[in-house]
Amino acid sequence: MLILLVVAAMTLMPAPAQESPTQTASPAVSETVSSTAADGDVKPFNPAEATRAWLDSVPRNQREKSDAYFEGGYWLILWNFLLAVAISVFLLASRLSARLRDLCERIVKIKNLQVACYAIPYLLLVYALSFPLNLYQNFFREHQYGLATQTFAPWFREQLLGLALTLVSGTLLVVVLYAVFRRAPRTWWIWGTIVMIVFSGTLVLIAPVYIEPLFNTYKPLTDPKIRNPILAMAQANEIPVKQVFEVDASRQTTRVSANVSGLLGTTRVALNDNLLKQCTLPEIRAVMAHEMGHYVLNHGAKLLTYLGILVLIGFALARVLFDASVRRWGDKWRVGGIADPAGLPLLALIFSTLVFFATPILRTVVRVTEREADAFGINTSREPDGMAKVALKLGVYRKLDPTPLEEFIFFDHPSGRARIRMAMDWKAANLPAGESASTP
Ligand SMILES: [Zn+2]
Repeated sequence: MLILLVVAAMTLMPAPAQESPTQTASPAVSETVSSTAADGDVKPFNPAEATRAWLDSVPRNQREKSDAYFEGGYWLILWNFLLAVAISVFLLASRLSARLRDLCERIVKIKNLQVACYAIPYLLLVYALSFPLNLYQNFFREHQYGLATQTFAPWFREQLLGLALTLVSGTLLVVVLYAVFRRAPRTWWIWGTIVMIVFSGTLVLIAPVYIEPLFNTYKPLTDPKIRNPILAMAQANEIPVKQVFEVDASRQTTRVSANVSGLLGTTRVALNDNLLKQCTLPEIRAVMAHEMGHYVLNHGAKLLTYLGILVLIGFALARVLFDASVRRWGDKWRVGGIADPAGLPLLALIFSTLVFFATPILRTVVRVTEREADAFGINTSREPDGMAKVALKLGVYRKLDPTPLEEFIFFDHPSGRARIRMAMDWKAANLPAGESASTP
């Protein structure tokens, strides 16, 4: 189901400002912030030039590869959408959906069980029919670009695990939704929205405890050289954490990343081991300060709220489109009203279409919250060069320098260029650190 569990997005930055003069600047950008003295021969730090220099430090072939990877992702959005449409139309037009409902009505008498009896084969069928694209996108293509670390067997084992989770949670969701549809034939779209919000919130809440450990091992970070500077930033921002977690993401991928997951009491910040291996302390601080931004700015609750509003609009539109479709094709497909489980593929079709066309809105909502976390992160970590370096590392799987339109439509995080520019603007501003800066 298209539940946009966007809440846990990404990576960027940690940083208290006490590292000794960590002149982390890369050879490409070694100018220091100069605006101080009025002696005219110091060239002022130029954020635009510095941003360009960082971007130019990436070898051309590497840039072409990561651009190709990311741009291929644009097309995959389209292929996934068309495939979802094709599957739904096939299930409806072949009346397979109607026959499955008839079968379930014969075997069980209780309504909720009839819905469950329909939902399980439906979910299995959708998974099986999408498997070829899934296999290409998430296995072969990831290997082609050097981003995957798993052989087929462990990858497939995780697929089956994911499928099992989808069967349990998806069936539960469908049963509850149809119970609502039966009781509220006119206002189902309002109650349905509430069900979706509660369902998404519950998933986010339990994910760190019951779901994430099925795929990866999380253990507290013990190296005091990394842990203590991170905890110092947390303390400075009133974040009540006593430990930071490390996750063995290298089991699946070579990507550098970190995330905040959970809600309320289950909230947890985790760094992945690729990040720990590939990044210096300033970069790690830059990433962690960004993640702390998500926490302090309440992004989990906010994204869930935005999601609720979008789902409400989606359900309202779905109501109109569903009724219109049933009037037009209901007899042919043998699908009754909203409470008929045989109409589930139609509902999926409508939602896939709405989500597809809302892609720029959904991505922009997430990207804007990511940018807020970036701003929090740079102010907390005070590591502009660390932020720039990490932005380049994330550029392995995210296009570094897209056009503004591309960024608006497709990016759920700011592009590398936008992030580096923010860091360089921050650096150019040369902020004083309170009284300490002016006291001799
Ligand atoms: Zn983030």
